Amino acid sequence: MIYERVALIGLGLIAGSMAHAMRREGLAGEIVGTARSAETRAIAAEIALCDRFVETAAEAVDGADLVVLAVPVGAMEAVAKEIAPHLAEGATVTDVGSVKRDVVAKVGPHLPDHVHFVPGHPLAGTEHSGPRSGFAELFDNRYLILTPVEGTPPEATLRLRSLWESCGALVEEMDAERHDLVLAVTSHTPHLIAYTMVGVADDLGRITDSEVIKYSAAGFRDFTRIAASDPTMWRDVFLSNKDATLEILGRFTEELFALQRAIRTGDGDHLHDYFTRTRGIRRGIIEAGQDTDAPNFGRAPAKKGDKD
Ligand code: NAP
Repeated sequence: MIYERVALIGLGLIAGSMAHAMRREGLAGEIVGTARSAETRAIAAEIALCDRFVETAAEAVDGADLVVLAVPVGAMEAVAKEIAPHLAEGATVTDVGSVKRDVVAKVGPHLPDHVHFVPGHPLAGTEHSGPRSGFAELFDNRYLILTPVEGTPPEATLRLRSLWESCGALVEEMDAERHDLVLAVTSHTPHLIAYTMVGVADDLGRITDSEVIKYSAAGFRDFTRIAASDPTMWRDVFLSNKDATLEILGRFTEELFALQRAIRTGDGDHLHDYFTRTRGIRRGIIEAGQDTDAPNFGRAPAKKGDKD
């Protein structure tokens, strides 16, 4: 056991997966959960996601030695304000938000001096959300980034690190600003591009009478998985990681114009060189154990008679 009582604030994909993984490994004496709506709390209780459920975040943190903020980034500050007067002496407060600089700025000032704030972000997820979407293996072999704030005792960070490692994650530390730039490249901007591509296809789909859906296996459907991600979560990500996302989008637009020009002028060498370079990135991801080498992401080939 690493913590005696863990309070999960928010009971969606990430908190739910943490609950499953903590139970699998016996990492918490007791897991107390709460969510904003009675409906979510009822579903979580029905599937016995936590040991105990309470109605408010303030009640949930009572006597907890680990508090996990697992709500959308835009809701973190209000939750921090609510729990601050009720936090136990020496407790660690962490979060799982996809943006770190904004969360540190908005949560940190509300927390009392007698708790340790160790922000975190698991680089693991799916397009599903809600209390039924969690599963114990979500964090296996996935990176978890901690961005400890100045003055945090190393023991508090080490304890949280060992919780995440026991949940299967590969833990790294970096500063919040670097985290936000790296994630703008690897996650935030790709999501925006997927949202845009699916939006464009949807507009076109109305003209082409659903051929876009029918022939989606040609590449489009891989965008649709990303573009099916939770709208609230992603609205908050872009509003709170504005600077880094705009910086990467600016570079993206420049590259897109260069490729557009190469197509117009028939510059095949430019296109070939570019695509050769990008193919290498895929190889690097597979070698790092962050995806499968199986063709088409390991999907079973369509059988005869399958629907298109
Ligand atoms: P989720 O499945 O949508 O669950 C969110 C939970 O937060 C729900 O229990 C919801 O309660 C609660 N909540 C929503 N708005 C709230 C508010 N204003 N005040 C209090 N509680 C509120 O979300 P998730 O995917 O687990 O994401 C949680 C956090 O993890 C986010 O900060 C996200 O950026 C981060 N994250 C997500 C992923 C991913 O792929 N999904 C990956 C890494 C990190 P109700 O159901 O009652 O509304």
